[in-house]
Amino acid sequence: MAVYKGSCLCGAITYTLTGEPVTTVLCHCRNCQKSSGSSFQANLFYKQEVDSLFISSWRKQQLD
Ligand SMILES: [Zn+2]
Repeated sequence: MAVYKGSCLCGAITYTLTGEPVTTVLCHCRNCQKSSGSSFQANLFYKQEVDSLFISSWRKQQLD
């Protein structure tokens, strides 16, 4: 079974996804450009299953 690990840009949130995505898309729409800060965004789509996504850390950031 495939296991994908990732995090947000600052590393405060880390996650683990298990299993294969239903589909993958490289999207160039304005929303994906803005949210990624790039010319495109890689999107993975999974069936909604409770145990396929695990948030492994959620660290509160201090904004000083
Ligand atoms: Zn898009």
